[in-house]
Amino acid sequence: MFRYNANTSGLGCGLSFILIAFLLASVGLGWVVNGFLILLCVLLITPIIAFWGFQWWLKRKLVQDECPVCSYEFTGFKNTEFRCPSCGEALQVESDGFSRITPPGTIDVNAVEVSPQQIEENTYNE
Ligand SMILES: [Zn+2]
Repeated sequence: MFRYNANTSGLGCGLSFILIAFLLASVGLGWVVNGFLILLCVLLITPIIAFWGFQWWLKRKLVQDECPVCSYEFTGFKNTEFRCPSCGEALQVESDGFSRITPPGTIDVNAVEVSPQQIEENTYNE
């Protein structure tokens, strides 16, 4: 059909123009498809990178160590203060591990100091 029409120059030019336009369109479509595939890859890869990045960040942030009081092993965020989930001791997370915030004995002394005050307040009220 193309060969037959090529004999008439006008129609041949028109057909070649359509052919070029189709080629350009197909190339353009190819780029669109490529762009879509690249976008799809980015969309697929980004969560994986984000996941690994998050894991890497967590590894930098999280410290795994044993409680200095009861040797209960768990993980904590760096540069934070929290209580041991096993024995309730107030602990501080440092880069190398956990350490007690209050020196041994401080809590007991505070408890002894608080109790008489509460008793005194109660007796004054009565
Ligand atoms: Zn503990």
